Amino acid sequence: PFEVLIVGGGPAGAASAIYTARKGFRTGIAAERFGGQLHDTLGIENLPGTAYTEGPKLAADLERQIGENTIDLMNLAKAVKLVPAKTEGGLHTVELGNGASLKARSLILATGARWRNLGVPGEAEYRNKGVAYCPHCDGPLFKGKRIAVIGGGNSGVEAAIDLAKIVGHVTLIEYDEKLRADEVLQAKLRSLSNVEIVTSGQTTEITGDNGKVNGLVLKDRASGDERRIELEGVFVQIGLVPNTEWLKDSGLELTEFGEIVTDEEGRTNLPGVLGAGDVTDVPYKQIVVAMGEGSKAGLSAFDYLIRTEPA
Ligand code: FAD
Repeated sequence: PFEVLIVGGGPAGAASAIYTARKGFRTGIAAERFGGQLHDTLGIENLPGTAYTEGPKLAADLERQIGENTIDLMNLAKAVKLVPAKTEGGLHTVELGNGASLKARSLILATGARWRNLGVPGEAEYRNKGVAYCPHCDGPLFKGKRIAVIGGGNSGVEAAIDLAKIVGHVTLIEYDEKLRADEVLQAKLRSLSNVEIVTSGQTTEITGDNGKVNGLVLKDRASGDERRIELEGVFVQIGLVPNTEWLKDSGLELTEFGEIVTDEEGRTNLPGVLGAGDVTDVPYKQIVVAMGEGSKAGLSAFDYLIRTEPA
């Protein structure tokens, strides 16, 4: 068995593994796809100390660093079930999709999250070519340009307020009859002169030419009328889904949104089981945050292992 098993090989899981391996613990990583969301990211310009990198390059750099430490990296290993230890200090079991199971005294759960997609024509085709999901990451690429934000919940309205400072014009599109964001955010949004708010709006297609977004097709759900909006960018803000489906029924505490509940040291309600990165209830889903939280969970696993007798 491992002393520490990390489930997930994104920035959070990679950081955890580097920390626990350097403490001399027998460390394994089981990842469905090493690198995680980094594979969907083109330019990264907000990682302090690294002025510019690209997602796949950062993933390769992390994999190289994993290789330089004594870490057993199991890639293409999908966890399907968690069976927690029956007693404190005992072994937790993680069952994999291929039928194998892995055991460890301490687990770090870092399975990340995924952006909910609109699922309309053009979205996948123009991803990273005008279709974006992260305003903190990609906002500056649209300086002075016209964009739409899709989604009128808190994240959509916050994104629209944030982006309105950088871009030329924002069209905020909500599918429902009214925005769902907190009233104070809605008031702030309405006060901005370069924002148009559309409700009962369904985006039916994202269009482009020369490999770049040039507009979207918007249907009024009340009248059924369709119109085209010309723009250069579309931010999809209809929810971030944590990858915790496999943890249901394990006894692990999740929020109403399915995120793993963690304390300030990354501990969950199960002794020896820690959480890190986008999969947890820690706000601000960013690479540097995931790496920081992963490191913290690694140190927290160390703390648990030196204080707990093996059962
Ligand atoms: P993830 O990166 O989601 O990694 C999760 C890992 O868990 C993966 O290895 C996955 O395969 C694995 N996994 C999932 N389920 C299972 C399972 N059941 N069993 C085993 N393994 C599993 N952030 C920035 O800071 N700057 C940016 O410029 C930036 N741009 C972005 C652009 C895009 C398009 C996207 C989608 C995100 C961007 N982000 C950016 C956000 C950033 O990528 C995430 O915050 C970060 O990757 C989170 O790291 P993580 O390790 O928590 O999770």
